[in-house]
Amino acid sequence: MKITQHLQEAQRTLFSFELLPPLKGENIGRIHEVVESLMEFSPSFVDVTYHREEYVYREVRGGLLEKRTVRKRPGTVGICAAIQHKYNLDAVPHIICGGFSKEETENALIDLDFVGVDNVLVLRGDPIRSEGRFKAEADGHAYAIDLLNQVVDMNRGQYLDPELRNTQATDFCIGVAGYPEKHFEAPNAASDLRWLKRKVEDGAEYVITQMFFDNRAYFDFVEACRAAGITVPIIPGLKPLTTRRQLQALPQNFHVNMPDELVQAVEKARDDREVKAIGVEWCIAQARELKAAGVPALHFYTMGRAEPTATIARAVF
Ligand code: FAD
Repeated sequence: MKITQHLQEAQRTLFSFELLPPLKGENIGRIHEVVESLMEFSPSFVDVTYHREEYVYREVRGGLLEKRTVRKRPGTVGICAAIQHKYNLDAVPHIICGGFSKEETENALIDLDFVGVDNVLVLRGDPIRSEGRFKAEADGHAYAIDLLNQVVDMNRGQYLDPELRNTQATDFCIGVAGYPEKHFEAPNAASDLRWLKRKVEDGAEYVITQMFFDNRAYFDFVEACRAAGITVPIIPGLKPLTTRRQLQALPQNFHVNMPDELVQAVEKARDDREVKAIGVEWCIAQARELKAAGVPALHFYTMGRAEPTATIARAVF
């Protein structure tokens, strides 16, 4: 079922969460554990992230370095199929521009359509870790909006090869990312919002936000979106802080601000057990306020760990 249908039919704030595929070499058992621990909160959908290739360097003879390309977390399509099959729960694969030609994207979308996936979250994707700057494939897409338009074309039955006859239209519901604190590359918030609006005009049916730790950022973002004419549902993404290291790591990796009250509380904590308790309490307060404000869903970034999200869901739903 489409995410938009879940949102339209809901008489309440929905619960959803995001999973990371396991590291290569591990099995799918951990994914099932996380999903099973969160099923009691009746999730409406589960997102599964996509991780592009990375470069690793191995020392070979004479101190020379050999560069190898590896994908550390493959399996997004398979995990989505497994979740839908085993739990009858809608899985939303993230699809990205990075590392994909248009042809490979088309083939991935065909796979997703054939396994019965109705939804995709369309993203540009992060740069390769060691490169710092996003580079599109020569025959790939540079921005999420270009990838989105490929999905929209397939939803109209238009495949890349214009000579294909009797093509079947796919029917993907398309979500995109939004950034309450601005995407880190955008020159300013207004420009970032204009591109988000273009994605919605071209066919995005809902937005999921980057994590934020101050609800004011979300409320202001929604207000700015509405003022700009973006009317689709905007689902807040939440991540409980669980370790002291995340005080630096989350701003560094996700370009988000930490409210000083939270920073000071974490700095005073004696160990990570206390940090986790503080982070979870903070997230409960955020989630309660957002739910009271009538947000369409609360979407949790689990980062592969169910327990903090379960504690929050138990307190909020
Ligand atoms: P875009 O919409 O392409 O925007 C990128 C930047 O370019 C922005 O600054 C925007 O303002 C600007 N812009 C947009 N369109 C244009 C244009 N046509 N011309 C000029 N400028 C433009 N990354 C992964 O690798 N895998 C994942 O699974 C993943 N999941 C995510 C889930 C969520 C909910 C979020 C919020 C992010 C996720 N990311 C993921 C990270 C995301 O890929 C990065 O933040 C990436 O840098 C931007 O993606 P985007 O889709 O927002 O890009």
